[in-house]
Amino acid sequence: MSAISANTKKCECDGSGWVSVPGTNMVKQCACQNEAALKRRMERLVEQSGLMGSLREKTFDNYHPKTPKQKRARDEMTRDGSFFLIGLPGRGKTHLLAASVNAAMGQGVSAAFFSAPWLLQKIREDIMASEKLQILENCCEIEYLAIDDLGKEKPSDTVQEKLFMIFDRREILGLRTSVTSNYDPETLSRERLDGAIVSRLLGMCQVLFLDGDDYRGKRG
Ligand SMILES: [Zn+2]
Repeated sequence: MSAISANTKKCECDGSGWVSVPGTNMVKQCACQNEAALKRRMERLVEQSGLMGSLREKTFDNYHPKTPKQKRARDEMTRDGSFFLIGLPGRGKTHLLAASVNAAMGQGVSAAFFSAPWLLQKIREDIMASEKLQILENCCEIEYLAIDDLGKEKPSDTVQEKLFMIFDRREILGLRTSVTSNYDPETLSRERLDGAIVSRLLGMCQVLFLDGDDYRGKRG
């Protein structure tokens, strides 16, 4: 997995993890230990993320655009930024979103990928447990947050309030945030989510439309 590529500094210890500093009686950690720490950090990032199975293999290179808009969306997303990807099912929104998360993790950025229904369910569970809102805190802190399929369900006002807090906080902190939706912003704010959430997203994200046919071979 590319997200767990270790550095190539070579080991100079005898397996103890320590090497002596020449000319002193001090020791320092061997390069092999940095490598192990990096590997552990990267593994934690992958675990934090909801990127499972084939989603981990999605890259910008293995996304094959079929229309100029799809190509533009891919090219734009290779630049680090926040994106609001809109398109009907089967145009590759999830692929591009997963690719952006994989790319970020490959650069050592803490990143998480959540499907919107899963995230909303976690927020509901946190609220029900009336504990500290752990998922909310994580979503506010992670360097890159990607939410797939926003608008698939219409959450309660309480849940929407938390969702707004996440986006609001991230905008203030200047943290990268990307979402995908089957709905255009107008429909999303009219039928699925509070207008304040949508307008916050429009303020922080570059909007990209994915047109074309359904890659799964189904038509509309
Ligand atoms: Zn070593």
